[in-house]
Amino acid sequence: MAAYEYETHEYDVVVVGAGGAGLRATLGMAEQGLRTACVTKVFPTRSHTVAAQGGIAASLSNMGPDHWQWHMYDTVKGSDWLGDTDAMEYLAREAPKAVYELEHYGVPFSRTEEGKIYQRPFGGHTTEFGEGPPVQRTCAAADRTGHAILHTLYGQSLKNNAEFYIEYFAIDLIMSDDGACTGVICWKLDDGTMHVFNAKMVVLATGGYGRAYFSATSAHTCTGDGGGMVARAGLPLQDMEFVQFHPTGIYGSGCLITEGARGEGGYLTNSEGERFMERYAPNYKDLAPRDYVSRSMTMEIREGRGVGDEGDHIHLNLSHLPKEALAERLPGISESAKIFAGVDVTKEPIPVLPTVHYNMGGIPTNYWGEVLNPTDKDPNAVVPGLMAVGEAGCASVHGANRLGSNSLIDLVVFGRAAAIRAGKVVDPESAVPETNTASVDKAFDRFDGLRNAKGTIPTAELRLEMQKTMQADAAVFRTSKTMKEGLDKMIAIAGKMDDLSVTDRSLVWNSDLMETLELTNLMPNALATIAGAEARKESRGAHAHEDFTTRDDDKWRVHTIARVDGNKTDLTYRPVVTDPLTTEDQGGISVEKIKPKERTF
Ligand SMILES: Cc1cc2nc3c(=O)[nH]c(=O)nc-3n(C[C@H](O)[C@H](O)[C@H](O)COP(=O)(O)OP(=O)(O)OC[C@H]3O[C@@H](n4cnc5c(N)ncnc54)[C@H](O)[C@@H]3O)c2cc1C
Repeated sequence: MAAYEYETHEYDVVVVGAGGAGLRATLGMAEQGLRTACVTKVFPTRSHTVAAQGGIAASLSNMGPDHWQWHMYDTVKGSDWLGDTDAMEYLAREAPKAVYELEHYGVPFSRTEEGKIYQRPFGGHTTEFGEGPPVQRTCAAADRTGHAILHTLYGQSLKNNAEFYIEYFAIDLIMSDDGACTGVICWKLDDGTMHVFNAKMVVLATGGYGRAYFSATSAHTCTGDGGGMVARAGLPLQDMEFVQFHPTGIYGSGCLITEGARGEGGYLTNSEGERFMERYAPNYKDLAPRDYVSRSMTMEIREGRGVGDEGDHIHLNLSHLPKEALAERLPGISESAKIFAGVDVTKEPIPVLPTVHYNMGGIPTNYWGEVLNPTDKDPNAVVPGLMAVGEAGCASVHGANRLGSNSLIDLVVFGRAAAIRAGKVVDPESAVPETNTASVDKAFDRFDGLRNAKGTIPTAELRLEMQKTMQADAAVFRTSKTMKEGLDKMIAIAGKMDDLSVTDRSLVWNSDLMETLELTNLMPNALATIAGAEARKESRGAHAHEDFTTRDDDKWRVHTIARVDGNKTDLTYRPVVTDPLTTEDQGGISVEKIKPKERTF
């Protein structure tokens, strides 16, 4: 058995992750006087949330009429009827409150002439239950909304005495013998010491796993560590086959050009200079939802109307917009286009391509952020002591497809909800759980095995193999044949994890070992993604199946529940929550309005 000395810490709550979701949860917990620690592998303001440009959705009605029910309807439709209706109602209803709170905490939102929070249009956000014109619902701080939110929440968390453990890498959850989570084990990256955090509640806010793919808009740190830890604890992942491709990653680098660019009037063209979105989505055109636009772009390229020497990408045009509007509303993307594509947006179009952007799937939770471990008897059974929020979690409000600007609002609404719930279920007077040494020993054995891995395949090599396979076989276009081949390949690739080679054995700033730990997290996320996709014989949201081109609500309006053990994935299904939180006579939405129908734009 591997013996590592460790320091023990005791808290009411430990939040893993300091992105928008982790910080909002941390702040909410600390505000209520819960003793709260936030552990994070990167400095809080370097979390991927910092890169969110476009904005955060809430029906504030600052730019014209809007209603939370319209926002809810758009989210239900956007999810292609796979989201949980209670959670989607909670999101849309609480969104304005959560945004005003951010404003009061000090987020420097852009303003209208009258001094209200500025809102821009975003794809899929409409009025009158999808019958009316597009709505301006997305609140923005220029094109650096995530940056503004992170800095504000970090400052507020410090002010409320939350304690930060920065550059601590969470390795594994500590589970009690009866299946409750009682803490988390961390490796301090800069001095190699080990730390056990015992807590009454652990909140996973570790972000997405975009880096399971070759081309992604997300940071290199987005490696699905929460999902990996959960899978190793024998807990499931949900709806992993739904991966969002953003229509406008810069060709080559994958760097994101916000949907706000189309919100401000930008449009896509093919090699014939045609604004092809007018054909695919006559009503909403370039502002149709992302899965729709990504698929349309892929169709144009496949049919030989792509741009560039190899006809393999599309143009995004902004040069017709007034220079002042570009400078004021989209300064960051003008710069990105210059750096990553060598393009002056006031003169030339930007070369773009659909790029992995967001993971709709994740750790299943209810709308309080409590992690679920569904059983046949109880599809909504809660894991005591464990929550998940943000992109790591799956509440599920995005279902099969997320609307732009609905993630930032998800982070703050559910980060806040987790804190409200913890205020009820965590008793500050009770004793902190004791260390379950068996669980800690098991984690150290795994860690030590990887640290001393003497196989033949370097981590970077196996990671690349995984990324290329996922990019080829689990991307925008999916057929039974390609997905079956992809799944077989991924099973073989995951099987090679035992043959990894790690050369650096030190414990201080050992990036080789850290990337290996990350690969052990990416792998179960990737496997669950392709296994879930291969099994789902329909088309819904981001999952467009060439051999089953329509949505099949009778059979497939269910959440995929994937349990990954080594290279084996076991799939079961959980019913979608179809009842809203409130009925119509309680002021809720009419159930008639949100019944499944064809999704057209
Ligand atoms: C380029 C880009 C632009 C986007 N723009 C928008 C937008 O305009 N509007 C919108 O709504 N959405 C947008 N999104 C999506 C949205 O930004 C993300 O879904 C969201 O920021 C995720 O936040 P998070 O808090 O869940 O995780 P992250 O911000 O990714 O943070 C994860 C945190 O977990 C920590 N962590 C991870 N693993 C470990 C570990 N093992 N140990 C310790 N700590 C760990 C990290 O240190 C980090 O602090 C965008 C995404 C990208 C990539």
